[in-house]
Amino acid sequence: MYSNTDLDKDNLYKGVLNPVISLKGVGKVITKELQKRGVQTVYDLLYIIPRSYQDRRKFIPVQTIKSGESALIRGTIKEIRRLRLRYRSVLEMLVGNEYTIISAKWIGAARYLYSFKKGDTIILYGRFRTSPKKVLETYHPEIIEDGNKYEIGRVSPVYPEIGGISQRRIRRIMMDAINQFIPNLEDPLPAMIRKAQLLPELGEAIKEAHFPLKSRLEDLHIRRSPAQRRLIFDEFFMLQLALALKRSKTSRQRGIAFEIPDIHELYSFLPFKLTGSQERVIHEIITDMSRSFPMNRLLQGDVGCGKTAVAFMAAWVAVRNGYQVAFMAPTQLLAEQHYLSTLEFTQNMNLRVALLTSGMNYFADEVRDGVKKGTIDILIGTHALIQESVKFARLGLVIIDEQHRFGVAQRAILRQKGTRPDVLTMTATPIPRTLGLTLYGDLDISIIDELPPGRKPIKTKLFHERDRSKVYQILREEIVKGRQAYIVYPLIEESGKMDLKDATNMAGKIRDIFPDFHIALIHGRMPLDQREEIMRKFKEGLIDILVSTTVIEVGINIINATIMIIENAERFGLSQIHQLRGRVGRSAYPSKCLLLSSYRNSASAKKRLGIIEKTTDGFRISEEDLVIRGPGEFLGEKQSGFYQFRVAKIMIDAEILSEARKEAFQLVEHDPEIALRTFRLFRQMFTGSHGGKAEFVSAV
Ligand code: ADP
Ligand code: MG
Repeated sequence: MYSNTDLDKDNLYKGVLNPVISLKGVGKVITKELQKRGVQTVYDLLYIIPRSYQDRRKFIPVQTIKSGESALIRGTIKEIRRLRLRYRSVLEMLVGNEYTIISAKWIGAARYLYSFKKGDTIILYGRFRTSPKKVLETYHPEIIEDGNKYEIGRVSPVYPEIGGISQRRIRRIMMDAINQFIPNLEDPLPAMIRKAQLLPELGEAIKEAHFPLKSRLEDLHIRRSPAQRRLIFDEFFMLQLALALKRSKTSRQRGIAFEIPDIHELYSFLPFKLTGSQERVIHEIITDMSRSFPMNRLLQGDVGCGKTAVAFMAAWVAVRNGYQVAFMAPTQLLAEQHYLSTLEFTQNMNLRVALLTSGMNYFADEVRDGVKKGTIDILIGTHALIQESVKFARLGLVIIDEQHRFGVAQRAILRQKGTRPDVLTMTATPIPRTLGLTLYGDLDISIIDELPPGRKPIKTKLFHERDRSKVYQILREEIVKGRQAYIVYPLIEESGKMDLKDATNMAGKIRDIFPDFHIALIHGRMPLDQREEIMRKFKEGLIDILVSTTVIEVGINIINATIMIIENAERFGLSQIHQLRGRVGRSAYPSKCLLLSSYRNSASAKKRLGIIEKTTDGFRISEEDLVIRGPGEFLGEKQSGFYQFRVAKIMIDAEILSEARKEAFQLVEHDPEIALRTFRLFRQMFTGSHGGKAEFVSAV
């Protein structure tokens, strides 16, 4: 029922994929500027869409213009004056008709302006304002020659800045490219989807997005003309199609259909009552485990919300069914922590749990042996789990903590130690739902959005640099009470050296200020064993203040640490701060997070940090971050290149994203073949920038 027109025509995009230099009016200089923006092909170029539009459909009589409005006017030059304004020369033209006169000013005016004479007719487009002298004035209006059909009598596009190329020139190039190539362009989107979504055809959409003829101006301004929607839709659609295809591949496979045991039996063993959220997600997970295709689920939840307990329950289900479980964490310390919690949970149960890390020599062979024979039910560990020597008798469930810390390949190796086991990954990085759909669109997601009862919320307070001594005072009081503290420095990756110096200096300074306390420094360049040694000492209470870069582990549970100072807080993303502060506030002791900042970028930094002062909801914070800093914040370097959509904006266009997702998943379900071909067509088209870069795209 779905179909593409002419699917097999492999020259579908002929011409559009030519390099931009082939275009009329595009020489070496412009090509270079375009390349800087990632534009290689004509198609890429056409995806630089206007950032705004100017209504130049008709001339506005000057007497009707209101302050604050933009307008195209035609008038007679009544006077030309040269003025000086703060040592700069200004050219002023008084332009008007028999009713009114407006003032047009150019500061440091270009030479050609001086060729105009009193009495000439001139056409201007500009934004007008009432001056203090009650005259309508406009600065640097565009002068348009009469009869220019690109510039007059239409809604005119305004493009993003491209290396100083004039708007007029870009418009010309775009117009030529559109006239030349759009007629040959075929639409890869199945017509049925296009119609269901009330979208124009691709060529029509491109043309109309650049040079609108039918779109309503109000729609254009909010990026919701049918043409704009189409272009946004396409980008999301291609991504969702990739995700849907990938998911269908895993769901077509046969996995293990676990039987669901009576979960209440397990509840009686747990040392606490589950939160409502925990109950809900464990239900989701177990239901998923009982299905006959492999589970691929992400468990998301703020630091300390109790993911480990949930993971353990899933593990119990697998073991009850006679399968083994592999539970991998990114560091030795975290692995040990999970091991200890699991031992606690399993105290009165007949379960065999073991730990395997690379730092461990004595029992490693024994553990590996038990895993191979099937006498160990749950194996917890670090990367050591993916070593070749680790073989499972019957691996049924893989759990990966802080999943983003592992590469795709590493995760795959672990999975392959079983026969299509279920996979549960976990992360404490809250991802806004919209972004989650693009990042983890091929996973099912379970969310814990509630903390166990009895936690005291962390009090967060922003201090200006000049109040540093107050911050130290608060720190001292806390340590005198027997608590411990973190002082964190931002880690800016490119300048690792600098930070190290900062953190090292700071450690020295802190030692001078608090000579009576035990102070240690920890940073990412230390060998892992040294780092773990320090963390262990901190956990044992032998260190009062830990000065660190951002290496301190996300999941680390040191309940006696109740105060954190974050230096240069303005250099962190909000989500990052939120994660960091999650390391305190892990007990019934009241905890504090003090942010130090000189708010150099004053207002905005202060406002941003104000958000983190007020809310402790990780999802809300991540939404804010997404709005303020864009999706890069959430993505590793490797991925960030891919998700720079050219037209779509994840936050603003979320509703189009949902539609695209719905259509893509439906298409894959109803007609996988057409789905795959459609995806390939889109990918071809996007080769210039999108194509091939993303891991999952190549996986399809
Ligand atoms: P996460 O892995 O999500 O950061 P953990 O699973 O490490 O969180 O849990 C943090 C702490 O809260 C642990 O000490 C755990 O025993 C405890 N905990 C988990 N769930 C509950 C609950 N429902 N009630 C009380 N304490 C809980
Ligand atoms: Mg954890």
